[in-house]
Amino acid sequence: MRRFTGDRLVVATHNKGKLEEISALLEPFSVAVSGAAALGLAEPAETEDSFVGNARIKAHAAARATGLPALADDSGITIDGLGGAPGVYTADWAETPQGRDFVLAMTRAWQELEAAAAPFPRTAQFRCTLVLAWPDGHDEVFEGIMPGQVVWPMRGSQGHGYDPIFQPDGYAVTFGEIDRWEKNRISHRADAFRKLVAGCFA
Ligand code: IMP
Repeated sequence: MRRFTGDRLVVATHNKGKLEEISALLEPFSVAVSGAAALGLAEPAETEDSFVGNARIKAHAAARATGLPALADDSGITIDGLGGAPGVYTADWAETPQGRDFVLAMTRAWQELEAAAAPFPRTAQFRCTLVLAWPDGHDEVFEGIMPGQVVWPMRGSQGHGYDPIFQPDGYAVTFGEIDRWEKNRISHRADAFRKLVAGCFA
């Protein structure tokens, strides 16, 4: 495992929320964090069919373009009764000509489970893959997971994406109903970050 020894890191995302979350996490390690948008980096096409493949594309593109280590993440939900769909297409299921519509995406997920007569509980996992890449082409990969089940109808207005239909294992509430701090403590992203910090920063 290669440790991070520099003092600057690029976060290969154009998403302001992700940049803030990652910056806060790395605060104890005295690393200056810059986002891809502020550095004028292009968003590469995510052409792989796995989370790790797409996170690698983003991290290596940013490391090559800047000559600095770069961190990227890719995430989504895998639903067992749908053979792991939507997976890397999690955000794509919400695309409409007017922008992203996650009610549409959640409705599609439930309708496909019904059409497949999937057994209960309708198990699913939120997954987050983090890739830390260096300009010399080396990388380290960390995978976080939050197991649970897809439920219907949608419940709760906290959170984003597929949160209202995802009930994490050990809870009677959905990610849409759960306290935000509690979610950030137990989520797939928190799991991946803990592994990253233990592997490369601690
Ligand atoms: P990306 O990693 O930015 O490509 O995002 C993938 C998609 O996964 C997002 O648009 C969300 O719809 C979904 N997603 C990832 N993490 C979560 C989560 O914690 N709650 C709800 N949806 C999520």
